[in-house]
Amino acid sequence: MDLKQRTLKKETSCVGIGLHTGKKVNMKIKPAPVNTGIIFIRKDIPGQPEIPVSFENVVAPERATNLIYNGYKVQTVEHLLAALYGCGIDNAIIEIDAPEVPAMDGSAAPFVFLIQMDAGILVQNAFKKFFIIKKTFRFEYNSSLILAYPSKELKIEYMIEFNHPLLRSQNYKFEFSTKKFINEISRARTFGFLHEVDALKKMGLAKGGSLDNAIVLDNFRVLNPDGLRFEDECVRHKILDFIGDIATLGKPVIGHFVVKKSGHSVNHGMLKKLVSEPAYWKILSPEVEKDVDEQIELPVFDLPEFVPA
Ligand SMILES: [Zn+2]
Repeated sequence: MDLKQRTLKKETSCVGIGLHTGKKVNMKIKPAPVNTGIIFIRKDIPGQPEIPVSFENVVAPERATNLIYNGYKVQTVEHLLAALYGCGIDNAIIEIDAPEVPAMDGSAAPFVFLIQMDAGILVQNAFKKFFIIKKTFRFEYNSSLILAYPSKELKIEYMIEFNHPLLRSQNYKFEFSTKKFINEISRARTFGFLHEVDALKKMGLAKGGSLDNAIVLDNFRVLNPDGLRFEDECVRHKILDFIGDIATLGKPVIGHFVVKKSGHSVNHGMLKKLVSEPAYWKILSPEVEKDVDEQIELPVFDLPEFVPA
């Protein structure tokens, strides 16, 4: 199994609009040396400030995951971070010329396509480091619950409940590999309710939102003319969001998460609490032989062919 760090073979780019700001944005994803991590650069601001991806730089309102560093901000990073995580990319520079990552189709699939098909993936000459859950950890907030158990691989079991005939309750169990991420999760789009749209727009949110980049539900049905990509697309998207949020740890995570009715702010609250309690986790690097002796199975980043649906 390949446990080496990864970046892109060459740069790739796209143009889109921000889901919340509605602003047009050009984005480039570029290769970076080992141990760089993922770094955003705001090309539209004098001095082109860097905003490193780290859970310490996360500000997570309920509707998106944003990063702020030295006062400079980049918004709605979660679907792009999920795509990078899903493809096993450890190191990349992301240049953008607006405050928000492009929404594309509301999923992670367009980013996966850019990474795998346009740029290609380069295996680098240094080992990854893994964030391992060592002891059962519990985080509760109002009606949200996240449990993290020690496991041999990354598993995410997610439950959602909404007062809506199509979403009354959806569950999904996901065992991570790049191939499964691409096939089961990456194409699931963000979703919202028609009755919330006006309120969100008044709050300055969802200005770029449309049926082109989100599933919109009225009180009974899906308004998108082509319907859903999966019957349980919404819970799959919540897993995509969760992966984007744990990606802010900057390392692949090994643990079994059971998540009930969470969102970006609760995911982030859980990560902050978890990191503050080192008894529950450890960092493992496969270059240390005794760590390998513990026979923890590491997640499969398996470089599959990209299969468009
Ligand atoms: Zn999302």
